[in-house]
Amino acid sequence: MLYGNENLRSSLIKMANGDRLAQCIFFYGDKGTGKKALSRWFAQLLLCENQNAPCGHCKNCKTIQNDVHPDVVWAEHSGKLGGFSVNTVREICADAFVAPNSGDKKIYIFDDCDKMDIRSQNILLKVIEEPPAFTYFIFTAASVQALLPTILSRLIPFGVSECTEYEALQALDEMGFAKEDAKDAVSCFHGNIGRCKDYIENEKVRQLVALTKEAVRCIIEKREYDLLRVFYNGSTDRNETTAFIGMLEKVFRDALVLRMDQALPCISCDPDGAKLLAGRLSSSRGQHFHKCILNAYASINANVNLQLTLSALCAELMMGR
Ligand SMILES: [Zn+2]
Repeated sequence: MLYGNENLRSSLIKMANGDRLAQCIFFYGDKGTGKKALSRWFAQLLLCENQNAPCGHCKNCKTIQNDVHPDVVWAEHSGKLGGFSVNTVREICADAFVAPNSGDKKIYIFDDCDKMDIRSQNILLKVIEEPPAFTYFIFTAASVQALLPTILSRLIPFGVSECTEYEALQALDEMGFAKEDAKDAVSCFHGNIGRCKDYIENEKVRQLVALTKEAVRCIIEKREYDLLRVFYNGSTDRNETTAFIGMLEKVFRDALVLRMDQALPCISCDPDGAKLLAGRLSSSRGQHFHKCILNAYASINANVNLQLTLSALCAELMMGR
């Protein structure tokens, strides 16, 4: 069962029923919000054999769900960055003109396009400009900026958002996770089902959340050396550090939001820490810290030395407190 994004899905159903469905669709939104599940659902909507599409139980719906439908092709990722090779893209462009195997439509899915290079995008451009009547393309990415403006102008974009915490609990229950684990995960990652699942299954993610919470306590209690130690533990790997600093950024963002209105929902993994911060930081101080963290985040993404960046951030967070 698919959770969340009801409005998006009902507009796609309306479009499909009205026989004016765009052939190139773009789902964008944060990692873990269910863009792949939505892509499968959309392919089912196009190819379902029943009136009430997607029914979920006809042969087409089932084979699409299991990623074995011959006319629903997931473009294969390759390379260190996880982009798409020029060969893969060329093959798909040629294949797009070959009639479908079984039904009257075929669908190509390019998921996680954030690392798709310009060359691959330019190769795709031509077929996207005028796809054969039976060919559909689905693209997904965390950010709208993943795709070139020339590509974007030929796609219908749909922003994908998190579901509610209640829906996330239901989904995790359906996946067979223990209730306590699910509750713990939702308290950190809210309605983002993918990130909740990752938290339960992946020890490393749980460690990063624990580090984030510890860092927030160190900042509140002005424990500079402990904060340095936490930062040191969080700096073993660039991707992990990016995730850690990203989580810390969200806690400060929540603290700023809570200062304005206590009733607004938190998006960070540490709502309790954010509440404590909100009670102790002045608005200008909070904004300054938030900016420091964003700068550190940008530096890490720009390949600046991890240790240096984190030491500087630690000093800034402790300065003049
Ligand atoms: Zn069906």
